[in-house]
Amino acid sequence: MDTGYAGRLAPSPTGALHLGNVRTFMIAYLRARSRGGRLLFRMEDLDHPRDKPGADRAIEDELRWLGFEWDGFCRQSERRAVYREALSSIRDKVYPCVCSRRDVESAQGAPHSGEQLYYPGTCRGRFATWREALAFSGRPPCWRFRAPPGEVRVEDAFAGEFRQDVSAALGDFPLARDEDGAGYTLASVVDDALAGVREVVRGDDLLPATPAQTLLQDALGLPRPSYCHVPLVVGGDGRRLAKRHGDTRIAAYRAAGVRPGRIIGLLAHSCGWAGADEEVSLAELLERFDMDSIPRAPCVADAAFLSRLSV
Ligand code: GLU
Repeated sequence: MDTGYAGRLAPSPTGALHLGNVRTFMIAYLRARSRGGRLLFRMEDLDHPRDKPGADRAIEDELRWLGFEWDGFCRQSERRAVYREALSSIRDKVYPCVCSRRDVESAQGAPHSGEQLYYPGTCRGRFATWREALAFSGRPPCWRFRAPPGEVRVEDAFAGEFRQDVSAALGDFPLARDEDGAGYTLASVVDDALAGVREVVRGDDLLPATPAQTLLQDALGLPRPSYCHVPLVVGGDGRRLAKRHGDTRIAAYRAAGVRPGRIIGLLAHSCGWAGADEEVSLAELLERFDMDSIPRAPCVADAAFLSRLSV
């Protein structure tokens, strides 16, 4: 059964695969497979200072060990020419910006809520080329997109409706800190469209970035995919899962002799599809997969939750 559905897994090799990433990937995987769809794997390896050597191969290997499989593979670092072409097609809508994060922070008119920073357009019309901006500041400028005014509406399959006037909330938003446009926002939007991705399933930390991505899709003449943003895994303190919550790297569980079915089982339990200590495979979960049973709140990986994976 081919329903035309295509989804994707898009890890960044900025760190090791951990329980949080795997829960989101598990949902993305089951959503694609339960619809008889294709699943693409895209390594988002454009974040050079933060990418960790060897993390890309480890992520791929650990996902296979957990039982994931996919139908196509690409690596963003090999696709610079594609991004360059996309960027040149919207050259009249973008401009290079030399402002640092600190500059943007200090330019906020009022104390700003949340993590999204408003950019007042300081570098609009300031530099004719990216190279000129580079020569001025001595470090790679960032391409910004002239956000048109107006509210953007995203209908999300899990999170519901999300509306934002990007020009008012973010201003001209960043696409990439790279001459060719090889950076997360531009690259992921272009790649999803060129690969025929119909639905983007990812963590809900990216929901606020979606209206801006939608404006970019429109400017590039690309179709808008559907979205499904799912809650993240947090530690017992309610903060996004990180090292301070303990070692939740898949590599650590694997080295300690935890079987993959236990990891998948515990994460499936957090979605309402398995008993807490059940060992289950992704293939077995296909029949139990049900988006409606996934709690709306973040998955809390507190000490009691994590202790279920100790051997
Ligand atoms: N590579 C991004 C991450 O690991 C995900 C980007 C996306 O799903 O659009 O956070």
